[in-house]
Amino acid sequence: MKAVQWYAPRKMRLIEIERPSPKPQEALIRVASVGICGSDLHYYREGRIGTQQVLTEPVILGHEYAGIVEAVGAEADPALLGKRVAVEPGIPCLACESCATGHYNVCRKMFFPGGPGANGAFCEYMTVHAAFCFPIPDTMSLQEAAMIEPAAVAVHAVELAQLAPGETVAVFGLGPIGLLTAQVAKFSGARTLYGADLLEYRLEAGRRFGVDAAFSARTQDPVAEILAATNGRGVDVAIDCTNASEGLGLAVQATRPAGRCVLVGISGEEWDPLPVSIARRRELSLRWCRRFCHNFPNTIALAASGRLDVRSLITHSFPLEETQAAFDLVAENRDNVLKASIDR
Ligand SMILES: [Zn+2]
Ligand SMILES: [Zn+2]
Repeated sequence: MKAVQWYAPRKMRLIEIERPSPKPQEALIRVASVGICGSDLHYYREGRIGTQQVLTEPVILGHEYAGIVEAVGAEADPALLGKRVAVEPGIPCLACESCATGHYNVCRKMFFPGGPGANGAFCEYMTVHAAFCFPIPDTMSLQEAAMIEPAAVAVHAVELAQLAPGETVAVFGLGPIGLLTAQVAKFSGARTLYGADLLEYRLEAGRRFGVDAAFSARTQDPVAEILAATNGRGVDVAIDCTNASEGLGLAVQATRPAGRCVLVGISGEEWDPLPVSIARRRELSLRWCRRFCHNFPNTIALAASGRLDVRSLITHSFPLEETQAAFDLVAENRDNVLKASIDR
């Protein structure tokens, strides 16, 4: 089968590899759509995320994918055959303390495709534990199904924020994760939603997806604007969806005393600075979001109902052969790109 392999920063090549065959508990997925994630971009450009996750050999990236089940192993549910599925890509060990206590998303033995030591989905076929394949309704396209993965992150982030009806929310970073998070926060009860980003076209996108007041981090001071708009109080909840080290600090500064901050974005650094004095004096609660945990079924239902618009976020589509061109487009934020996907 064909696959696109990363082999050095900003370098990818089309290769031919053997098609995988499913183990007893697995399903064989004919990959139909794969989204490019911010974490893929860190690997693409820098070959690493922080100092712990480093690509030391060529690898196939990609973990936001959906496809059609073409075969199942002997112990997998045969009803999955032929089904169009969204795939939850990370496969936990299901035996450790984290897994046993319901926090499988932080399993230390998690298998995650498209990173160090594990090939991902920029290819024609994937095998995955059948329990992590989620059939989608007929009304949902496979391209939208691939968006369930980042959308589940947004659902988990708002869940971690413990958003109460009528609260005010700020979302820093209006890339795909920020735009999804803004939507989820809005229909989960946010009264007023503030957003910030460096790019003008993303501020416009934010307004389309429910942000009431969007501030430019390039020409304005988003923290000062949010504090002014809330009479100096700050928001109840701030969510950092940026890919920058400054994001969490901005979120902390914009949050009211005893408010909540959630960190979703990946700066790519091992350590990031934090305004600890502000966080302490306001007795803020800070939570970090690690992907998702039991969020796929609800996220699929929300997307299928139309309340969560994943479709409009997909601005670009490329064939597998042009994966590198797609990465370059996203890396340079060209052509007002939000989400680019590889489709077939
Ligand atoms: Zn991702
Ligand atoms: Zn585990």
